[in-house]
Amino acid sequence: MYLSSQHTLLKVIFGNVLRSPEASHYTAAPRTIYKDVVILGGGASGAHAAVRLREDYNKNIIIIEKQDNLGGHVETYIDPVTGNPYDYGVNSYAEYGNESAFFARFNLTLVNPTSIKLNTTNIDFVSGKPLVRYQAPASADVTAALERYLNLTEKYENMLLPSYANFPTEVPDELLTKFSDIVEKYELHACLPLLYQVTGFGLGNMGDELLLFMMQEFSAPMTRALLGLKGSRVPNTHQNQDLYDRIGVLLGNDVLYSTIIIDSNRTSDGVQLLVSNAAGENTTIIAKKLLVSFALSAENTAPLNLSPAEQEVFSTLGLAHEYCGIVTSPSLPINGSLVNIPSAAVPADYLAFPTPPFVVRYQFLGDTNFRILLTGTENYTLPLARQLTNNTFGALQSAGDIPQGANLTIRALEEHTTTKQAIPRRRTFYTGRSWTGQFTTILWEFNDQWMLPRLLASF
Ligand SMILES: Cc1cc2nc3c(=O)[nH]c(=O)nc-3n(C[C@H](O)[C@H](O)[C@H](O)COP(=O)(O)OP(=O)(O)OC[C@H]3O[C@@H](n4cnc5c(N)ncnc54)[C@H](O)[C@@H]3O)c2cc1C
Repeated sequence: MYLSSQHTLLKVIFGNVLRSPEASHYTAAPRTIYKDVVILGGGASGAHAAVRLREDYNKNIIIIEKQDNLGGHVETYIDPVTGNPYDYGVNSYAEYGNESAFFARFNLTLVNPTSIKLNTTNIDFVSGKPLVRYQAPASADVTAALERYLNLTEKYENMLLPSYANFPTEVPDELLTKFSDIVEKYELHACLPLLYQVTGFGLGNMGDELLLFMMQEFSAPMTRALLGLKGSRVPNTHQNQDLYDRIGVLLGNDVLYSTIIIDSNRTSDGVQLLVSNAAGENTTIIAKKLLVSFALSAENTAPLNLSPAEQEVFSTLGLAHEYCGIVTSPSLPINGSLVNIPSAAVPADYLAFPTPPFVVRYQFLGDTNFRILLTGTENYTLPLARQLTNNTFGALQSAGDIPQGANLTIRALEEHTTTKQAIPRRRTFYTGRSWTGQFTTILWEFNDQWMLPRLLASF
């Protein structure tokens, strides 16, 4: 089985000890920065690792971040009229590990999110037909199915979270079973609409995925949170971006914003990166270790000049192309959520999912703001996501689902590429979603329990 053979590829090591810092390999760069660790990407895992390495382990670090802020998939929109904040990317933090202490470092406490009761309308967004005969599962059935799913995730939790350190060489057959077969076996049907709405949409058709990948996407901590057994909380300021802005202030000049890596020279003596900012200014970074935290897309890995072994490993990773944004229109129902469910789901086939690319839902957040979520296909782009947002809205108007006449305004739309299928392996200096389960608090535990001890021991 291919998973087992990939599992033996354990020797992909990026950072090596820099015995004597050499002169810059990149003579064209006017500036050279020397660091213990250079971190590629300042999202959930990269920003957390930077704080831990610099503040707790006394390492010199620098983050190379493509955007002009830290936080990755965190997106906080401030309504220009009311000043109210709306998080349309990362929503809340599932209780897992030590997240409260990490927030506390930045004078943030965790509280329950404010929720508003929404009226849900299920519509086939392709035909525009409202699913009047669709029977949503009864809430008691959802809970019972979710409990069965939790039992299953807990059976494998120790293998999958917070790292793959305990992942067995012989992969359990059940983990390699198609999720639709698992759904039948454990009678999980009733919780599928909820799994799809929360995060499963990123997989496209959840039923076609292996149980292993489904559990990476939707793991035990989030299931416990949905069942109310654990919390899923937000910072007391109700703005997720606050954490990362405060990390940015703390790290100061140790973050190079709007900067990307354009070339690298990784030898047994250390790592040299050529990075370039939005103004086209080049800098050489010479570091003892390289920590890669961003999604391992073809574009992101090209400048790393991957070895054949690395290429082989990374070719097994799948990417989910997700988009999220804020839209507004007088046509959209205040206190409403328009959810995309295909007609094939009528009356109660919960294994029927839309085919990517698709809009997942238009969901009222507050004021005049609606959150929009989309799933793209391979090589999907932001302009295509914008077009799909408008076209779907137009189709809903034409079908009479929502009033005609008013336009849609897209207030924000962001691309969020993330790993959707990861093959467990060990001994790497990577962090981020490619190496453990989805969700921020899991990534932080992965850093604390797996990556940081190994990275530090290698100095
Ligand atoms: C719509 C949506 C909602 C979500 N909701 C939640 C939620 O409510 N709770 C939760 O815990 N998780 C949520 N997640 C999942 C969570 O966002 C991810 O698990 C987490 O962000 C992954 O962290 P990461 O460090 O691997 O990557 P990221 O957070 O994506 O960080 C990667 C960073 O690398 C940067 N980068 C990318 N390419 C380059 C480059 N070439 N050069 C330099 N920098 C680069 C990016 O700008 C980014 O800052 C959600 C995800 C999405 C898409």
